[in-house]
Amino acid sequence: MSNRTFTMIKPDATRKGNTGAILQMINAAGFRIAAMKMTKLSKEKAGEFYAVHAARPFYGELVDFMSSGPITAAILEKDNAVEDFRKLIGATNPAEAADGTIRKLFAASIGENAVHGSDSNENAGIEGDFFFSKLEQF
Ligand code: GDP
Repeated sequence: MSNRTFTMIKPDATRKGNTGAILQMINAAGFRIAAMKMTKLSKEKAGEFYAVHAARPFYGELVDFMSSGPITAAILEKDNAVEDFRKLIGATNPAEAADGTIRKLFAASIGENAVHGSDSNENAGIEGDFFFSKLEQF
């Protein structure tokens, strides 16, 4: 069944000029872009997005990093979107990511790891709605 996931191309990938190459990989893997925008998270908004990690030791670093520069947020559609996108991006830590994955190719570290991908259909909906109004989702 066709369903949706949510992604962000993170500030490290934006700074390195990798946005186009990452979008090309997403396209080539068969995802349809249902919404997309370039924006920058304030510290407050980054903290809200990652609130589920608030108790983790890296939360402060994560919030500082995710508000450090522009990101590209997008909603992606494909059969089995959440699982297939997690496969395309690879493990959180690029040292453990499979060859050919976005994080293996573009991530520098476990923190600055180039892309976000939702971990469930429920979170994909919540995260997409965090960035896009219903009028901006196609
Ligand atoms: P994901 O679902 O693969 O993105 O991984 P998690 O949900 O576990 O973590 C969310 C994000 O927090 C990751 O994508 C990283 O950007 C960041 N993160 C996770 N672990 C660490 C860590 O040990 N140190 C730092 N600085 N950031 C981390």
